[in-house]
Order: sequence, then structure tokens, then C-alpha cells
Amino acid sequence: MSSYNGAVPTSENGPDIHDAGDETWGSEAAQVLQRVFGYASFRQGQQEIIDHVVGGGDALVLMPTGGGKSLCYQIPALVRQGVGVVVSPLIALMQDQVDALRALGVRAGFLNSTQDYDERASVESAFLAGELDLLYLAPERLRTEATLRLLDRGKISLFAIDEAHCVAQWGHDFRPDYLALSTLHERWPDVPRIALTATATPATHAEIASRLNLEQARHFVASFDRPNIQYRIEPKNEPKRQLLKLIRAEHPGDAGIVYCLSRSSVEKIAEFLTDNGVQALPYHAGLDARTRAENQSRFLREDGLVMVATIAFGMGIDKPDVRFVAHLDLPKSVEGYYQETGRAGRDGLPSTAWLAYGLQDVVQQRKLIDTSEGDDAHRRRLGTHLEAMLALCETVECRRVRLLDYFGQRGDSCGNCDTCLTPPESWDGTVAAQKVLSTVFRLDRERRQRFGTGQIVDILLGRSTPKVLQHRHDSLTVFGVGTELGEAEWRAVVRQLLAQGLLTVEGDYGTLLLTEASSEVLGRRRQVMMRRQLHKQPQGEARAKGAKPRRMTQEDLPEEAVPVFERLRAWRAATAKEQGVPAYVIFHDATLREFAARMPSSLAELGTVSGVGENKLAKYGQEILDVLAEEGA
Ligand code: ADP
Ligand code: ZN
Repeated sequence: MSSYNGAVPTSENGPDIHDAGDETWGSEAAQVLQRVFGYASFRQGQQEIIDHVVGGGDALVLMPTGGGKSLCYQIPALVRQGVGVVVSPLIALMQDQVDALRALGVRAGFLNSTQDYDERASVESAFLAGELDLLYLAPERLRTEATLRLLDRGKISLFAIDEAHCVAQWGHDFRPDYLALSTLHERWPDVPRIALTATATPATHAEIASRLNLEQARHFVASFDRPNIQYRIEPKNEPKRQLLKLIRAEHPGDAGIVYCLSRSSVEKIAEFLTDNGVQALPYHAGLDARTRAENQSRFLREDGLVMVATIAFGMGIDKPDVRFVAHLDLPKSVEGYYQETGRAGRDGLPSTAWLAYGLQDVVQQRKLIDTSEGDDAHRRRLGTHLEAMLALCETVECRRVRLLDYFGQRGDSCGNCDTCLTPPESWDGTVAAQKVLSTVFRLDRERRQRFGTGQIVDILLGRSTPKVLQHRHDSLTVFGVGTELGEAEWRAVVRQLLAQGLLTVEGDYGTLLLTEASSEVLGRRRQVMMRRQLHKQPQGEARAKGAKPRRMTQEDLPEEAVPVFERLRAWRAATAKEQGVPAYVIFHDATLREFAARMPSSLAELGTVSGVGENKLAKYGQEILDVLAEEGA
């Protein structure tokens, strides 16, 4: 845990590693962790945060997705007197959140607009009777006088404000409701508040603190690193085939999310995957609400489904075993990209974040920015976001180092991203850059008509296409000066010039234009280093060892444990179906893996496996022992 220096006034509020007098709370929290959740130790940062909130302090928590934020308010709610009120914007997920807690033996309930009068009334009376540990509310509830009066009549142990970045993001659907939360403290001055988010550049961090009136709170900033996620970015050639290869070679039968920019590509890709034997479902804002809810619920409940979606999908999805997140279009910002890829591997097991991007993405994104609503300042901001994303794509450095740097954190070369695993060559592309730029310059001088990448490449390669002949481009001095590279390589050069801000693109046809910086290159005052295109993805092949690719979650399980693991999964699927809850609510993959690897033979031994708390041991312990004792088929 650390705090940003300077950006936000945290230094005097920064976390102490050891608070005096926390011994008793600390041990009570540790007991709850063990007894209820079945975990032996806290993850980085959890203990400090929990101690602070148990002691009545306010907290602003910045932790990456999968970092373990929920326990930071769930445990204090269990330790403190009263009911923990959790503000969460995702009505569709409340039932699952509450089911997951109930499976642990925690008394949880929710109030939202999907309930009928009787359901609401019974939750309300449980709240008033002090029979709840946690109560989930949608933020708009807290704007109604009826809810406020209800809360007044019960005892509240804390307010947890989940997805706190909603308050900071312009145009966010939930923003007005979140803004209203800044007054919680006035009505309940003695109730601690803990706001949590996984989205936090220094600017967002500062805005959350000020909008929610949490400047005086203690700020906890965890490392944003997600070491179990392998980051890979590759050039987009045949996106469908590339995606299918990724799934078949490395993620057969795994759950994953594929992000596309448009509704129509979502539909097409989902159909393509289904036709090729990968179970996939579409999700976008154009589908009717029922289909969307149904697809989301199937994704959460069934094993190994692939969700093909626009970015409308995913916030608050806490499915722990999403094994890959693939982007088929360039994300609009690094912040968004990190949030989306962070949905992979919340359980800490190896996972993949894979992005394919090409020249066309840059053209498309620029066009979206040029035609976007809002003022110039807004468009400039969008442009800056895009440039940071492009720089990440074209870096020859470790991807993780770049990502962490974006969040104001330092990292070392990670060994688990494409640039670390197969370092790209960097080459001096200054001459190639000059050739492209001077061609663009000559075409631009004609003024009458503007040209995109295709024409530039044809000219450099000396191709007498009808369009080249029609405009007499074969008479330009640059005609045919670029035969040392092939078409794909020239396109990569253009892409990287765009990424480095040495070219820009405009209009429907992706007209290339010079920028101010271009003249430095043309005037030989600036060297341009480029990333050499990789033709292979050796790290992918290395992972998919053996003739028959294994599901990633089976990887490095001993050979004899694999069939046991599969039997446990089948048992879990049947049990989850019977109860109408997602499979992970029963047990996580990581827990099933440990059962299969350790083969416990008694209830006592079973209880020592991570993820097995008292309640689940009592409920499922014997069944697990029976499954483990079965003769393998
Ligand atoms: P976040 O909300 O930060 O994305 P979650 O609270 O959903 O993360 O936690 C991610 C996963 O890690 C969950 O499956 C959770 O059960 C697990 N987890 C959290 N804390 C611990 C811990 N101390 N030990 C083991 N697993 C943990
Ligand atoms: Zn790396």
C-alpha cells in the first residue's frame, strides 16, 4: 500500500502499517476471515483497511479488480455492531452477491426495484430487527426520503460505496445518484464510510475524494499490478482467425470475454464462434433487456461460456474464473482497457489479456473523436486517451511497466507479457518514416483530393494501379522508392507513425496528414525507432503444451488429479444448477484444484483448504469427500 505523492492530499492521512491498539480487532477480523470465508491470511492491504474501518475510520480504497475489495467492508460489517449498508449500482447482480454471502452463512439482503412489496417488507423488517449483517442498496434508493427514514430506524455499522469511480466519470449513468452520497456523513456522522474502486488514475482518485467528501478519510492505494494476467497485444490481420486460434490453443472450454466496439461486430463474432464450436453469447445495448439479463446470467452460471460484448458488459461482474479477455477493437483509453482486462483471473489463476489492433482501428477511433459530441477540450481529452493507448500498443518496453506507469506506479519487467516473453526487435525506422512522410507531403500539396494509407503504400511500392495512374502519382519522385519493405510492413510503419504522433488521420477515408512533429523527421532532426512486427506468438504455443490442449485451470495439476478435478467440476455444476446460483458461489476453481491435488480424506483436513469456511464445510464437506473417494471412470 502506498499513497500518491502530491496528486492528492494523502500524506498526512497515509496508512500506517501498524496501528496501536488494533490487536483485538485484528484478531477478531482474522477469525472471521478464517471461519466465514475459509481463508488463512489477508491479501496485501486488506488487514490495514479492515482495522481502520472496524475502528470507525473513513477510507478510500483503490485496489485493482480481483484485489479483494469486498472483504474490506464485509469483514468490518461482521465485526462491528449493526448492519453494513452497501451501495452498489448493479441491480442485476445484487441477487448473486447476496446468494454468495448467504452460502457463507452471512445474513445478507438487498432492496431494489426488482422486488415486490412483500419481498421488500421482509427485508426491511429484518433490517430493523437487527437480523442482517449486510444490506445492499442501489444508489438511487438513498435519494428517497422513505429509505433514509428506514435507515434512521435501524443501526448501521458502516456505509460501503462500491464502484466509487461512478461519481467521477462524466456522463456516467449513475453519476447523479453517486453525487448525492456526499451527504451521508451529514446525516450519520458517526457511521464510517468506505469507498472502493478499481479505476484510478491520480486524476480520478482526486475527483472521487472531493466529490464524496472523503478528503479527510484515509486513502489506501494498493499496487495495481495483476501478476497472474498475461498481457499481449498483436497486430490485427485476420481477427476472427486469430481469436479462434487463441481460444483453441490456449483456452478450450474456458470462460472468457471478447470485447468489440459495435453491436454488429458483437453479433457476427458470437455467431462465428458458435459456428466453430465455441459456446458464445452476445451482449450489447441493442438487445432487449430480457435477453441481456438472460445471457449475463448464463455466463455467470454455466461453465466455459464466452461472452462477446460491447463495453456495456462487465461492470461489477465478479465471476472469478474468467480465463481470458480479448479485445478485437482498440479500447478508447488505457483506463478502460485496464478495467476490462482486469475482469480476467480474479481468482489469481493464470489468465490472458489479449488485444489485436490495426491501422483501421486508429482511423475509426479518430473519426469517432472528430464527430463526438462535446467541446474542443473534450475532444482533446479523448485524443490524449487514444494516444496513450496507442503508445501502449507500440511500446518495446514491458507492457506491465507501461500500464503501472499510467496509474502512477512503478514496476519491473514482468516476465509475463508479450514484450518480456518475446522481446520485439526495435529498428531504426527513420528512413522509412521519411519516405512515408514525404509521400504524404507531396499528396497533400495537391490539395484537391486527399489519400489514405492504401494509396501511399501503392506509391512507395511503385504499383501502377488505375488510381495511381489516374492521378499521375507514378510521376512523383517517391514512386517506387520503398521496395525494401512489403505491404504489411509499410502499414506497420504508418501505424507506428500514427502512434507516435508523427502522422494524423482525418475523415471518412482515413486521409493521412502531417503533424507539427513530422517536420522534425523530414528535416532529419529526429530519429524514429520502431517495433519489428512479430510473425509468431511463441508464448502461446509454449503454454499449450502437449497434443491435446488443456484447460488453463488444469495446467500444472498432476496428471492423476485432472480427472478428479473434472469430477468435482461436474458435481459443482449440478449443485449450482439445483440451487440456481452461479457455480463459483459453491466453490472457486482454485478450491476445487486444491481438493484434487491434496485429496483430503477427512472433514477436518478438508476444512484447511483455502475457500472452505465453516458453513460450506458443514453443507458440502461430506459430498466432496464422496466425490473424491469415487473410483475414477
Ligand atoms: P474485487 O472486488 O477487488 O475485484 P473481490 O473482493 O471480488 O475482488 O475478490 C477477488 C477474489 O479474491 C474473490 O474470489 C475473493 O473470494 C478472493 N479473496 C479475497 N480476499 C482473499 C484472501 N484474503 N484470501 C484468499 N482469497 C481472497
Ligand atoms: Zn512484461
